[in-house]
Amino acid sequence: MDPSAILRIHLAAIVENWRLLAARAAPGAVAGVVKANAYGLGADRVAPALQAAGCRHFFVAHLAEGVSLRGTLGPGPMIAVLNGFAPGADGDSALVPVLNSLGDVLSHAAAGRAAGQARRALLHLDTGMARLGLDAGEQARLAADHSLLAGLDVLYVMSHLACADEPDHPLNAKQAARFARACAMLPKFKRSFANSSGLFLGLDYASDLARPGCALYGINPRPGAPNPMRQVLRLEAPILQIREIPAGASVGYGASFVAARASRIATIAVGYADGYLRSLSGQGVAAYRDMVLPLVGRVSMDLITLDVTEAPGLSPGDAVTLIGGAAPSPDDLATRAGTIGYEILTSLGDRYRRDYGAV
Ligand SMILES: *Cc1c(COP(=O)(O)O)cnc(C)c1O
Repeated sequence: MDPSAILRIHLAAIVENWRLLAARAAPGAVAGVVKANAYGLGADRVAPALQAAGCRHFFVAHLAEGVSLRGTLGPGPMIAVLNGFAPGADGDSALVPVLNSLGDVLSHAAAGRAAGQARRALLHLDTGMARLGLDAGEQARLAADHSLLAGLDVLYVMSHLACADEPDHPLNAKQAARFARACAMLPKFKRSFANSSGLFLGLDYASDLARPGCALYGINPRPGAPNPMRQVLRLEAPILQIREIPAGASVGYGASFVAARASRIATIAVGYADGYLRSLSGQGVAAYRDMVLPLVGRVSMDLITLDVTEAPGLSPGDAVTLIGGAAPSPDDLATRAGTIGYEILTSLGDRYRRDYGAV
């Protein structure tokens, strides 16, 4: 028996999700956000699949992610680096930096003028995140003096929503208004605004280029409402051992679980080192066919234990499902772990065998 777990990633479902979002955003374009290794699912597989479906714009967070992605995709698609290029580093001219401050604007514009060749860039305006992007004062300076942009070829001016997953949050409309006002004070550039959830707020949020990430990977862009996206993940793992324990026996570190009855405990080779978060201790559930198998005891680094007393037919080597199918979705698992689906995905470890076919 191969004891390693298998992570099934349904590329075709990711592509279907991209098409669904593209239909929502039309006539605007839709990028693929593939930062953090495509949210843990594998940018080297996800990005080419999106490219084959017609995606022409990609976003990564780090310069190194962009360099690697350019190698994967070849010339052609835009690859924008959200965190920009490090000060002094010109980066790679095949990649497009997001300019996140007036300082970024001035240095890249100066480099473009010095080279006699305008530098392609995205201009990021902060409208309510206080994280990256030109703040209101910097935006005003740019609005007052457009010559500061000489030397730049601004492909898009962008902003990022703080509360798009809460449709009724007043900050959404405020950010949209601030973005529109700031854009009106600048030369006419194309705009990039919505993330995944932003695409479900209404057409005026879609802009010329939407930047969805999580929804491509099956995370619900409208928490609390039915998930319009296809699920793309299934994590399956074989049972290593089944142990019969008497009532009163404890399981795992800290003896945090004590069996109330004679029980059968199955051990699985997945743990917090694989991204099965330790906060799922006593909270997780797995599935065998349609049967729910509660996780008991603490999540260890490399192992978890399931109560399979109610599934007497199970034996070592049988595969149980930890994510997807009758087991929790990444969003459901996140709720049980006290986090968000994004963290479940980006925590998935590299010890899984990965299969990119059907789920
Ligand atoms: C991560 C990120 C996105 C994608 O957000 P999702 O919520 O995953 O769709 C879009 N824009 C920026 C600036 C980001 O950092």
